[in-house]
Amino acid sequence: MRGIVWFRNDLRLHDHPALTAALTACESVTCIFVLEDRFFETGIGGLPRMGAYRAKFLLESLGALRGQLRALDSDLVIRRGEGVEVLTQLVTETSAEVVYAHNEWGTEELDIEKKLATSLTAISARLCLLEASSLYVTEDIPFGLVALPDLFTEFRRKVEHNSLVREALPAPTKIQSDALPAVGSLPTLADLGYLEQEVDSRIALVFKGGEETGLSRLEHYLWQGHHVRKYKLTRNEMLGPDYSSKFSPWLALGCLSPRLVYSELRRYEEQVVRNDSTYWLFFELLWREYFRLVLRRFGRRLFLLGGIRETPMRWLQDKELFERWCQGQTGIPLVDANMRELRSTGYMSNRGRQIVASFLTKNLGVDWRWGAAWFEMQLVDYDVASNYGNWNYAAGIGNDARGFRYFNIAVQAEKYDPSGAYVRHWLPDLATLPTAQVHSPWRLSTAQQDKLGFRLGRDYPNPVVDLEKSVQQQEAKYWAALEGTPWRKRGNSVTGKFVMSTED
Ligand SMILES: Cc1cc2nc3c(=O)[nH]c(=O)nc-3n(C[C@H](O)[C@H](O)[C@H](O)COP(=O)(O)OP(=O)(O)OC[C@H]3O[C@@H](n4cnc5c(N)ncnc54)[C@H](O)[C@@H]3O)c2cc1C
Repeated sequence: MRGIVWFRNDLRLHDHPALTAALTACESVTCIFVLEDRFFETGIGGLPRMGAYRAKFLLESLGALRGQLRALDSDLVIRRGEGVEVLTQLVTETSAEVVYAHNEWGTEELDIEKKLATSLTAISARLCLLEASSLYVTEDIPFGLVALPDLFTEFRRKVEHNSLVREALPAPTKIQSDALPAVGSLPTLADLGYLEQEVDSRIALVFKGGEETGLSRLEHYLWQGHHVRKYKLTRNEMLGPDYSSKFSPWLALGCLSPRLVYSELRRYEEQVVRNDSTYWLFFELLWREYFRLVLRRFGRRLFLLGGIRETPMRWLQDKELFERWCQGQTGIPLVDANMRELRSTGYMSNRGRQIVASFLTKNLGVDWRWGAAWFEMQLVDYDVASNYGNWNYAAGIGNDARGFRYFNIAVQAEKYDPSGAYVRHWLPDLATLPTAQVHSPWRLSTAQQDKLGFRLGRDYPNPVVDLEKSVQQQEAKYWAALEGTPWRKRGNSVTGKFVMSTED
């Protein structure tokens, strides 16, 4: 039998059940990746869906995978076009009977799978889908999708106590690929319509796509640098390469399998140390897991204005405010520094993401989907479930919404950037400001500004909103919108005190 392995967000050879199944069942296997037209379309708010950072990481990952397959006497067919058409065509060209691939849970991806299955049936072939992007496979989860707990904590306890992570599969050592069709060349960024990106010298870590670089990062974070042993203490930082694992781009494109990360983490615990920090990395991987299940359970609702709770909130569609947020020109240093890091590198820390998402939705009241679309375009680690799940959560319209909760930016600045080192790193215009005012330059008197040779409004923008008043306005809007809905009863306002976080 001849088979095709359709690579999607699983650009690796290790722990690849689809490839393993194809090699077991077929005498000849052809591997393909389709650069689908939809990747390069524009989405919400007219923003391109894939920005240059992710496109570059994707091309690097494809180049690396092709090299690995060639070393095993096979190759990677790379074609551009509409997914179903390209795959059906390849099945005809190679006389394959089965297309093996891994499940994806995005709504578009599910539609494509359905169409592909129909198209293949018409030519007497079939689609075989297997699970590989999560820690747990469906049958090992101790509840059905409709019973997915609304609270992460409950989910975590259930899976921790009842589910086992299966072993990661080994990479194949040989692939039989007879009579390969035209494999196609790997396009350049320019071929795809992107400008070549220069790496910003302030970047914490240069992300290079591919399984080998992903495995090196895993090796570095655990075995070489032992950074994992203090992860819980450092993970909320924003500056530097090792405060967090930075596994996310490799996990998003599947260059790293979550099950391999898990098994290495367990091995580290057995051989070096098991502590709160090693546990916490697993804990964060469970957030990834949870949002995948949230996507599977709620489907399209995750992308709608009211979110998965169908909250009747009104959001501002103010292009100017949104643009200032995107470009890091809000006049709030902690927000701007994070947004400029994202625009200049394609990455932002988890702390930063939570702060800027809260600011857009809870201070500015701007349509959360615009923020999600900007992240989708910019993030090198964009992942549909993690991005839209986190945005639902941050906007307060997720299934776990407990009243109006927001990040108090002044408190966040004091706690996570007390010396101002992070904002100075990304906002050189504030470099000369004293630490006491670097997070609130609007508090400098004109005389102080003169002394520092700094002018608010000229060297750095005036703040777009008053941090306290804006949050009070948004809170009032929030409760008014919920008047008469079942959600009105749930939770009390904790304005000013609450620090929303993924610690539950
Ligand atoms: C508004 C918003 C949007 C986000 N969009 C994405 C996205 O598109 N892609 C993405 O991978 N992550 C997203 N995250 C989650 C998180 O910020 C990143 O996974 C993390 O910052 C990546 O850096 P790291 O690998 O060093 O994380 P670490 O802190 O080292 O965590 C290890 C791994 O755990 C997972 N993880 C950690 N936190 C979360 C979380 N809150 N939700 C889901 N998984 C998590 C990631 O796979 C991460 O690589 C988003 C968070 C927010 C608040």
